[in-house]
Amino acid sequence: MRSVYVHVPFCRKACHYCAFHFSTTRTAQARVLKAMIRELDLRWNPHSGSGPPPLETLYLGGGTPSLLEPDALSFLVRGLGERFDFSTMQEFTLEANPEDVHAKNLELWKGLGVTRISLGVQTVDDRFLQGMNRAHDSRQALDALRLLASDWSGPWTADLIYAYPDQDSEDLVKDLETILSYSPGHFSAYQLTQEPRTVLNTKVQRGDLQMPEDDKALELMQVLYQNAEAQGYRAYEISNFARAGFEAVHNSRYWSGAPYLGLGPSAHSFDGGYTRSWNISHNIHYCRGIEEGSPEQTVEVLSAADCLNEFLMIRLRLDAGMPWSELVSRFGLDAKRRVRERLATLSPTWFDPRGFFGEDDPLRLSNEGRGLADYIASSLFDDVPDPTQDN
Ligand code: SF4
Repeated sequence: MRSVYVHVPFCRKACHYCAFHFSTTRTAQARVLKAMIRELDLRWNPHSGSGPPPLETLYLGGGTPSLLEPDALSFLVRGLGERFDFSTMQEFTLEANPEDVHAKNLELWKGLGVTRISLGVQTVDDRFLQGMNRAHDSRQALDALRLLASDWSGPWTADLIYAYPDQDSEDLVKDLETILSYSPGHFSAYQLTQEPRTVLNTKVQRGDLQMPEDDKALELMQVLYQNAEAQGYRAYEISNFARAGFEAVHNSRYWSGAPYLGLGPSAHSFDGGYTRSWNISHNIHYCRGIEEGSPEQTVEVLSAADCLNEFLMIRLRLDAGMPWSELVSRFGLDAKRRVRERLATLSPTWFDPRGFFGEDDPLRLSNEGRGLADYIASSLFDDVPDPTQDN
């Protein structure tokens, strides 16, 4: 296993749009961190070979890993460091919220081996930050951006949210101009979505808030792409933008179908083939399962159709697109024929013509197609027989 994700399930406040697993009560923090290390020993024993195995990417996400106190974070990272060889590390990312970014923490994170910071800015619009119950305001966001730009020697990325209620193009341009003026090598921009069982969802259902219409969201997406490109950022994935050489290594592994191990409540793992699993989304039940030696997990064995559909969904989100040759080598000629048949029913304007009409180039979405990526991918979905039988 060369890539590990650790889900730190604690936050200061509950953001109204958030559907991730987290708790704002931290009484179980020490117990959860201990259980994560024990989970690693239970599920995957790195000491079974000769010496600790090499780790290439480590991602501490959540939740809010940056809120961990020095002792707590050191305990977690050292526990991992005793079980893996960190000398092969290509990227060690820590998600940080602006209120945690200060000189002492930067020093701590660097000392623990963190190479990349992912800063949850979201916007510099206080209407949204306050309205959605974020723990920081725009002043803290700007302070954190300034400090990362001046004092953090490694790469860093900023997370943005767009298409929120009442946002217009000028607001988005202001967010982009402000954040990109600090020259992050990378940024991510996710459209606000209304997830079930969130405060945002309740507010919209009650009529207290209105989400932007689809046309408005598409218009904002085009503003995002135009501004990002004008400032030298390439949308190498539909929501991820980088200057050359700053593409995320860990996340790119997810998109290429590489295996990874997820530790902590709600964390997902993938074996790189047909098996996906995820931990229970409950801190105490998670700890209890680990302490009793039987982690509470759900395991899903993917069918060949699931794998093909996931392949289409993920690859069409990438600027590199979906290589026809890879589709054939993984799923067979018959699968390609059926995808081709479905593709012929879709508008050519949604694709780069080279991969749409030919097969030497990958199938890539056009600017227009990127706004319809989920619909396009699901239109190509199909059932296929087991790939070992398909020739
Ligand atoms: S800080 Fe992040 S994980 Fe925590 S509630 Fe807000 S969006 Fe969710």
